[in-house]
Amino acid sequence: TPTATSVSHSIPTGFVRVRGARENNLQNVDVDLPRDSIVAFTGVSGSGKSSLAFGTIFAEAQRRFFESVAPYARRLIQQGHSPQVDEITGLPPAVALQQRRGTPNSRSSVGTVTTLSNSLRMLYSRTGVYPDGALRLESDSFSPNTAMGACPKCQGLGTAHTVTEASLVLDPSLSIREGAVTAWPGAWQGKNLRDILTALGYDVDKPWEQLSRADRDWILFTEEQPVVNIMPERERPRPYKGKFWSAQSYVMHTLADSKSTSVRNRVLKYVESGPCLMCAGSGLRSEALAVTFNGRTIAELNSLSLTELRRVLDRPAASNTPGETITKDLTRRLDVLLDLGLGYLSLGRATPTLSPGEMQRLRIATQLRSGLFGVIYVLDEPSAGLHPADAEPLLAVLEELKSSGNSVFIVEHNMDVVRRADWVIDVGPYAGEQGGVVLYSGPTAGLKDVPASITRKFLFASERPVPAARELRHPLGWLSLTGITRHNLRGLDAKFPLGILTAVTGVSGSGKSTLVSQVLAETVGLYLHPDLDPSTGIASTASMNGEKDDQPEPKPVEITTVETITGADLIDRLVRVDQKPIGRTPRSNLATYTGLFDAVRTTFAATPEARSRNFGASRFSFNVAGGRCETCLGEGFVAVGLLFLPGSYMPCSDCDGTRYNPETLEVTYCNKNIAEVLGLTVDAAMVFLADVPSALRSLKTLSEVGLGYLRLGQPATELSGGEAQRIKLATELQRARRGHTLYILDEPTTGLHPADVLLLLAQLNRLVDAGNTVIVVEHDMDVVAAADWVIDIGPEGGDKGGCIVVAGTPHAVVAHPASRTAPYLAQCVS
Ligand code: ADP
Ligand code: ADP
Ligand code: ZN
Ligand code: ZN
Repeated sequence: TPTATSVSHSIPTGFVRVRGARENNLQNVDVDLPRDSIVAFTGVSGSGKSSLAFGTIFAEAQRRFFESVAPYARRLIQQGHSPQVDEITGLPPAVALQQRRGTPNSRSSVGTVTTLSNSLRMLYSRTGVYPDGALRLESDSFSPNTAMGACPKCQGLGTAHTVTEASLVLDPSLSIREGAVTAWPGAWQGKNLRDILTALGYDVDKPWEQLSRADRDWILFTEEQPVVNIMPERERPRPYKGKFWSAQSYVMHTLADSKSTSVRNRVLKYVESGPCLMCAGSGLRSEALAVTFNGRTIAELNSLSLTELRRVLDRPAASNTPGETITKDLTRRLDVLLDLGLGYLSLGRATPTLSPGEMQRLRIATQLRSGLFGVIYVLDEPSAGLHPADAEPLLAVLEELKSSGNSVFIVEHNMDVVRRADWVIDVGPYAGEQGGVVLYSGPTAGLKDVPASITRKFLFASERPVPAARELRHPLGWLSLTGITRHNLRGLDAKFPLGILTAVTGVSGSGKSTLVSQVLAETVGLYLHPDLDPSTGIASTASMNGEKDDQPEPKPVEITTVETITGADLIDRLVRVDQKPIGRTPRSNLATYTGLFDAVRTTFAATPEARSRNFGASRFSFNVAGGRCETCLGEGFVAVGLLFLPGSYMPCSDCDGTRYNPETLEVTYCNKNIAEVLGLTVDAAMVFLADVPSALRSLKTLSEVGLGYLRLGQPATELSGGEAQRIKLATELQRARRGHTLYILDEPTTGLHPADVLLLLAQLNRLVDAGNTVIVVEHDMDVVAAADWVIDIGPEGGDKGGCIVVAGTPHAVVAHPASRTAPYLAQCVS
């Protein structure tokens, strides 16, 4: 049998045979998938597509690979789990290109993930124009990430952090004892520094502003670190030695050395950040910046859009052979990125600022030249974030992966892409326990004869259900922003209608997210909460239950201006509904997030059994001591710190994963204990909790948005992005609010089957009908056609975008000759 490491040509063309797959909801699935083909996995959200493609096939390939590597190397590789499957034969090695956000590593960029930066450096090293008398530099000297190339001032980061008296001391009327030096740490460490100052003879009780200039400068900026004997004021019995840190040394030392993101973020508040003056933000040494190619430095090329970069490289400059070879290779690889609609990116763009779809397309392009063949590429909705105009070139690239001898397995919802696959595996018919069956496996056209398939209706034009036609709504007012400047928006004026459903469209990179998710959200957020930091002033549903995002993404310095804003006074509240997880630990689940668990706990506390034992509602919480299992602290799982693999959990052996102690489990309501209630699906709970009105309301909304198959206790960590988003929307719908809320959604259809898109649309319409405003950034033309108003941005991506091409009703957009969206929208408007 072939193993994951065996070389591909030993595998004959044929099928991957899966027998007895039972991962998650899969119902003992037997299926044969052709190799050397493009295979699309379809089915409603939660039907089991990912469980088959990623959870079974990819996981098994990875497990075999893992088994074959030497034990010492295993710890370096993220181990997948062993899938629940009887047998898989004919399985080549697999590579998964999932939609993960860029690594939080701020040094990773478009150039590094595509490895284009390596070639560009070689180009400068070998063929660059050097100043007279300068020595030729090695490739590495052109990288800010190497000791050889990094600017000595900023260590290659390109940004300089500076401190001033104003940034370190926020309120100069305070004394040092009262905390004048805001940047210093608090608690014991802060008191220690204060004691040292007292020992050195400084007055820590005088208001800061009354200290002498010399004293203030020394305390804030000295590099000296005197060690003094301290006689503590009270608490400590014995004198000790303390080392002094000026505020500047403390801040700089923390930024350079602290491993804790939260500590680093705390001190970042006390520094002013800007481009490093020595390297102008490029992170490179001056020797490297003196070398040019076609009159430009490597730093300049790194900041050009890929489209412009392609043009610069095209100009015949390098007449020597190595130069020609390198530029040819570079342009060939750039062409793939341009084909994938990514021409608006630059090599220097940091990966944490990319969308998951952009990141995945970069990975796909990079795979093309990996030279691998005989592998299975498993992809997750490669069309996510793509305008229909860009879907064609994506298909061409998938075809190319196939024709170089690979299999391409895609989990996909975009029917234009599915239609072009060689083979379709339709999983269903519904989600969760009502899914997990392969309804069809064969050439795409054959799905037409499978009545049980929900996908069938959307795949074949003649049967396609469309949302019922309705009267367009009229705006209740307008939210107008003028003079917007950020990224590729240059002095743009934009008007958003209030009280209706608006879709914002445009090709990738045209500026939709910049306009809506960034500028609009931040401006309105700041208007509603002027006292808050713009990036935190936005009520995100993800933080509603007090969950804190523990890993904020690095925020690069961004210059945004908005000249005027009018109409914001008509809005009371801003909510962004995104696909971020609703919690990062199994402690957070569907029932706790929606608040319906409160009603369930109260119901249990009211049973005669609970009363006689004096069990209140908190006894039934797994988040506080009392009723929960103390071994796992109510998580039901214990984290296993396996080698270097974070985030692995195993069921707790003391409570068998029930989360509760035996006494709590003895209390029942209608013959079920609290753990069994958490095990019910939403649909089953609707019957079981029919007499608990407050729970029933939440359950009904969840069921209406198509989540009836989820279990109440389903840990947040097991929910997909699309499921998390629909839970957030359902939670919004269930709170009958007065006032006018602005909802902002960025590509809410990602991960949703067309049938689920119709459910989502119904939900959005309910929010609008309740008097709110909904603005969605969208590529799904069914959603755009169902909007009251469309704002089409473009005409192209990057510098060739950033304008409003047309704004009006869907029909008005269809009629506009310059809109790239018009031809695709035309097929969906009735
Ligand atoms: P799809 O890819 O079709 O959206 P999935 O394969 O992600 O569906 O999920 C199929 C079912 O398995 C759903 O009911 C989902 O909630 C459940 N599920 C997904 N991941 C896990 C997991 N890690 N543990 C338990 N159930 C899961
Ligand atoms: P869309 O949402 O339409 O795909 P974006 O708003 O993401 O487009 O991007 C518009 C332009 O702004 C593009 O040229 C993109 O490269 C640029 N851009 C977006 N985000 C950033 C960022 N964080 N840093 C620099 N440029 C950015
Ligand atoms: Zn520098
Ligand atoms: Zn336990």
